[in-house]
Amino acid sequence: MTYDGAYSEGAGQIQNLDVKAHDAYRSAKADLRAAIAVLQGGQLTQAQWAHVNYYFKLDPQNTNIPAGVIGKLQATLDGIKANQLKVRVMFFNFAKPTDKKLITIAKAQILNVNQAVRFFIHECTHIYADTDDHSERGYGNNQGTYRQPGLTPEEAPNNADTYAYLTVQLAGRALL
Ligand SMILES: [Zn+2]
Repeated sequence: MTYDGAYSEGAGQIQNLDVKAHDAYRSAKADLRAAIAVLQGGQLTQAQWAHVNYYFKLDPQNTNIPAGVIGKLQATLDGIKANQLKVRVMFFNFAKPTDKKLITIAKAQILNVNQAVRFFIHECTHIYADTDDHSERGYGNNQGTYRQPGLTPEEAPNNADTYAYLTVQLAGRALL
């Protein structure tokens, strides 16, 4: 057990905050495990290939797992498991790569478990798998698509939301 609790910083009182953050922590680990198993197993459904190819900006007919993807997901999972991770709730989502023990989740997301998991994974890929953001073309929306077109196949393997969305989609989690 490495989860180290949650606290609100300027986001006011949040009912059952620690329960909600702990749920997100456990679910993020479970979803990462599930997604890694799907990718390692190699027997993806058509819908699962469609997610891989959409999020990584690959040809719709592609049936190869992009190099390095499983490694980044595994590094994220290992980081979550190895660090005494604390969750701070404010009004935005944030993580500092030099601080492996703290992620900030927005109040709006911590209130919804599915969104909390997605943002939890997003922030953890920054600190454990060295991902970046690529402005609106790299961020996804609640429909599971990129907010704006233009992310390139070169950028996608280093884009945080690419991993967050792929993970929850392969794990079968609802987006809302
Ligand atoms: Zn980010």
